[in-house]
Amino acid sequence: MTASISDILLHWYDRHARALPWRNPPGAPVPNDPAWPYRVWLSEVMLQQTTVAAVKPYFAKFTEMWPTVFDLAAAGEGEVMAAWAGLGYYSRARNLVKCADKVAARGGFPETEAELRELPGLGAYAAASIAAIAFGQRAVVVDANVERVTARLFAIEEPLPAARKTIRERADEITPTARAGDFAQAMMDLGSQICTTKAPKCLLCPLADHCAARIAGEPERLPIKPPKKAKPERSGTAYWIERGGEETREVWLVTRPGEGMLGGMRCLPDDGWSAREDGSGIAPVDGQSEPLGAVRHTFTHAHLTLNVVRIKAVGNDLPGKGEWWPADRIADAGLPTLFAKAARLVSAQD
Ligand code: SF4
Repeated sequence: MTASISDILLHWYDRHARALPWRNPPGAPVPNDPAWPYRVWLSEVMLQQTTVAAVKPYFAKFTEMWPTVFDLAAAGEGEVMAAWAGLGYYSRARNLVKCADKVAARGGFPETEAELRELPGLGAYAAASIAAIAFGQRAVVVDANVERVTARLFAIEEPLPAARKTIRERADEITPTARAGDFAQAMMDLGSQICTTKAPKCLLCPLADHCAARIAGEPERLPIKPPKKAKPERSGTAYWIERGGEETREVWLVTRPGEGMLGGMRCLPDDGWSAREDGSGIAPVDGQSEPLGAVRHTFTHAHLTLNVVRIKAVGNDLPGKGEWWPADRIADAGLPTLFAKAARLVSAQD
């Protein structure tokens, strides 16, 4: 039975694989191109907790700006962070730069799962996925889609996260030696297209005859997840500090320090709202201030209401390490989504 699951799924994948810009066609050999593992790695990092639709334009932009890992390693961190702006989870971008540096220094990507696991920002899933897809190695790749499909195929009733060990063992049992990369991508496609979290399309599923949860009924129940914790509400204030007249208006942007939340990103100065983990807020400056309203943003750990206050700068006593930026080019500043929302609120009131 286990051999036939991979055969059936690969046969289905040959006909129904999603065409994605970072993918090899089903059944094609791993390309003998040094840029290939770079593209696989880049897509895997970008896809962490992010949808395919959101990643596509960023993947196109990055591979155009930096076609190889050596080009990316040669870019400045600020340039990479600005190009990443809007994709979220900014620690990924910092790790991307660190990883590119390491890979370039060693002359290319390592090929084994164990060595890939040593690179900055690569967890067990990403290392296995890159080993399988970029280098054709047998590796057991378990992301949220694979987790769901496997839990249902084997009707694993143990709740998450304790069930992960069993799920991994079952996924290992059905992973083939040949075409392990295609198999991993087939499981991901099945999970995202057919075996969806809600209302799985069992009538269209190639594995329906092998699926214990479907046979038992109510496959949607699985995997059993722990109850979700409510996200806390936070609030804070961002400052749009400006100088100059209508034609020459500039806004003060700071670069967040360190490795904490939004670290290394160009942002509006703020008051150190309580959602910030590093607590490194910036006190408001003197000047004529005008409240403009608030924007809402949801992080993985909290909801934030960010009040936006405009200040006409007086003198040179400005908060943080920063730069004056032309207000009419604010869209090019590479602000993270939260502050891009705040900037749009200001523009809407001009
Ligand atoms: Fe998922 Fe249904 Fe297919 Fe089972 S039969 S793997 S529950 S879509």
